[in-house]
Amino acid sequence: MAHRTVTVSREPGSRFDLEAGGTNAIGRMLALLGDEWTLLIVRESLSGATKFSDFSRLPISNAVLTTRLQSLVRDGLLSREVYQQQPLRAGYLPTAECRQLWPVLISIWQWERTWVHDRSSELPLMHHRSCGQDFAPVLTCAHCQAPSEAPDIDARWGPSGGWSRSVPRASTRKRLHTVDAGQPGLFPQTMAIFGNRWSAAIVGAAFLGTRRFSAFQARLKAPAALIASRLKVFCDIGILQAAAHPHRSDWSEYHLTPKGLAFFPVVATAIDWAHANYRGSEGPALELTHRRCRHAFVPQLTCDQCCRPLAANSIEIVPRGGEVTQQSDAPG
Ligand SMILES: [Zn+2]
Ligand SMILES: [Zn+2]
Repeated sequence: MAHRTVTVSREPGSRFDLEAGGTNAIGRMLALLGDEWTLLIVRESLSGATKFSDFSRLPISNAVLTTRLQSLVRDGLLSREVYQQQPLRAGYLPTAECRQLWPVLISIWQWERTWVHDRSSELPLMHHRSCGQDFAPVLTCAHCQAPSEAPDIDARWGPSGGWSRSVPRASTRKRLHTVDAGQPGLFPQTMAIFGNRWSAAIVGAAFLGTRRFSAFQARLKAPAALIASRLKVFCDIGILQAAAHPHRSDWSEYHLTPKGLAFFPVVATAIDWAHANYRGSEGPALELTHRRCRHAFVPQLTCDQCCRPLAANSIEIVPRGGEVTQQSDAPG
């Protein structure tokens, strides 16, 4: 698979190095991004927040925010830069790896504004400077440029693949505080899907063709009660539909609905980010093939207005009633 070459230079022993035989790029990505506060702090960072006071817009206590900013520095998504000595003041800048998360973020925005109707008026507009239009991102194949949806992609495990290496085994951090899903602008449904490593793993398994309750349990090696509660949430928000087996509850099946299938750009861009940023010697965790052109599927987001590929430095995020944030100086 001609997966992306890593363009980020970094010190040996980086947070993004993979151990041979250990958790693979997908498992590491789920452990890092499958966390509601990480996603929200990354969103604020990519929207221009640098100072502590910028991040304190989030409904989170100062003590918890301090801890989370420190852990994101440790995890390699933020770097702490001192901007004033007397008194000491430091800001938090997105690292190269963090800036490359923009396709995941705009895919989340797009899904929320299309499928979570009561929230659409709060979400920012996305403006493509290349064509001057407000746009919606379209997931396409970087090889043949065709718009691509989940059923267009074949997925099979790569050299570092397999269920046991792709599911984060242990929590990387204690749960400090839970996002109040009723707060505006916090992507409540995305958080239900992706803001927790188990939820994200279950959704990933559904996209990889897992249907039966017993198969989710066997592949993820998670307690039945945990899987049952997550599957129920997914049915409640309408991304999965349950088909009960008349005699055996462990044979109940869960199918992605159109709303669930539409989450695929978030999954595809997150997997692509994982493969591009986690460095190891074994090759990719997952090999994706575009059925139409039979080439390795590399996700590319294009503008629905001019059909050209989107780049970090050609898009602007325009909050409703707020100022423009230019997504700049990130690699294309
Ligand atoms: Zn293609
Ligand atoms: Zn455009």
